[in-house]
Amino acid sequence: MRSSGPHPDEELGLRPRETVRAAPSLLWLAAAVFVTAAASASASWIVTVGRSVRGRPIRATVTGPAHAKRNVLVVGDVHGDEPAGIAIIRVLRRMAPPAGTALWLVRSFNPDGLVAHTRGNAHGVDLNRNAPFAWRPLPRGLFYSGPRALSEPESRAAVRLIRRIRPAVTIWYHQHAALVDDHGGNRALERRYARLVGLPFRRIPGSYPGSLSVWQDHALPRTTAFVVELPGGSLSARSAQRHAEAVLSVAGSGHH
Ligand SMILES: [Zn+2]
Repeated sequence: MRSSGPHPDEELGLRPRETVRAAPSLLWLAAAVFVTAAASASASWIVTVGRSVRGRPIRATVTGPAHAKRNVLVVGDVHGDEPAGIAIIRVLRRMAPPAGTALWLVRSFNPDGLVAHTRGNAHGVDLNRNAPFAWRPLPRGLFYSGPRALSEPESRAAVRLIRRIRPAVTIWYHQHAALVDDHGGNRALERRYARLVGLPFRRIPGSYPGSLSVWQDHALPRTTAFVVELPGGSLSARSAQRHAEAVLSVAGSGHH
């Protein structure tokens, strides 16, 4: 399917300013747009990390030092009908990350699904069944895994970004099981997150081939990627704030 070309920048609610400048470490990506230099030494950038099937940009807002030794990735949304985590991304954009840490804040890896309110992308693929670990064919339907691992531009963008920045901690928001999933990575860190936000720490039963977080935990040893299943509906401002604070708490801990 042909992509329909670039979409306007208002999607992120952030207008690029006049200055476009690529930080040296980000040159591998598309243009990095310098956005704000906060009162602190930290700045934030918007980096386009890929495009959806329909050509919508997938962007990360990066906060913290330009050459941070430690990266932390937070993903607000993967399944287009589970958007509650985006509220946490919005809060995190305004918060200073822990010292020496850059936060990579991706609103959604599935912008087409988000617009269409569908779990899958524009090809109907469940992006969280399309990662290259334990991938297997699952038929068309809710959990369609695509014709092969990494068949979709959105999952390729996720994997490329993760291989490049090797996040020490990654949090993937989903809905609506209301738990922190015990499924690999640093359990003490995950349990702490669960305690801070008041959700149970439990393994979601069943098997999850092609899962992005499970792929990460295998592909990048000594890093932690985990799923936070938010409750159904939208998050209150208070809950979003509580989750954002928990992210900052675990962002500064775990493996170094
Ligand atoms: Zn989900």
